[in-house]
Amino acid sequence: MNLKDKIKQVNRLLIGHFGIPTRPKKLPNPVDTLIATILSQNTNDNNSYRAYQNLKQKYKTWEEVADISRSQLEKIIRVAGLGKQKSAAIKSFLSGLKKKNAKVDLRHIETMKDQEILNELTLIKGIGIKTSSCVLLFSLDRNICPVDTHVHRTLNRIGLVKTKSPDKSFKQINHFLPEGIAHQFHTNLIKLGREICKPSRPVCSICPLLRDCRFQNKNFENSGSTVRNNFLLLDSI
Ligand code: SF4
Repeated sequence: MNLKDKIKQVNRLLIGHFGIPTRPKKLPNPVDTLIATILSQNTNDNNSYRAYQNLKQKYKTWEEVADISRSQLEKIIRVAGLGKQKSAAIKSFLSGLKKKNAKVDLRHIETMKDQEILNELTLIKGIGIKTSSCVLLFSLDRNICPVDTHVHRTLNRIGLVKTKSPDKSFKQINHFLPEGIAHQFHTNLIKLGREICKPSRPVCSICPLLRDCRFQNKNFENSGSTVRNNFLLLDSI
């Protein structure tokens, strides 16, 4: 079976277990997605959502947020952790955009090709491939699968890629990704990583991919409860 067919097979099995994830009718604009993704780094979706809501409730526009001080921003988003780094990244992104376009707007990227968008967004300080690819999938509905730590770990364990970093997994998997599956594949791999294929002790006995997975160190001991957590930040903003 070639890699494209293997991805399709894994996607089918994941849908059989988790279903097809729903999406909001109106997708968030690229600036919303970009800021929510910065807030989500190294924390859970609930905390980053609270930080995002704090900003949205306090300020009507991102232009207003661009004008507050970095330390003020840090206080407002504290619940998401790493306040210093995240406030610096958000501030530099918003101020840079405002300076360049006189307003905080990324609508011009809507007509650009995937790679052009990745090239442009990753030029911004503090914005990497993961954040840029979330904009492509969650705001522009492109067939691009962002790779975070859950997606990187599960892809490697299953044997769909063999890489040392999420950015390398991103390149490999997206090169072969079948049309129209990015959102379901990405979302269900995150659910798999959170609930079953956990970092230290995967619960292989209940995994829908058990027969297809190439991981050498499968765990069949009782590994505690598997808590279902369907809240996904970027489908909720
Ligand atoms: S069989 Fe185990 S290691 Fe493989 S994907 Fe499932 S939980 Fe992860």
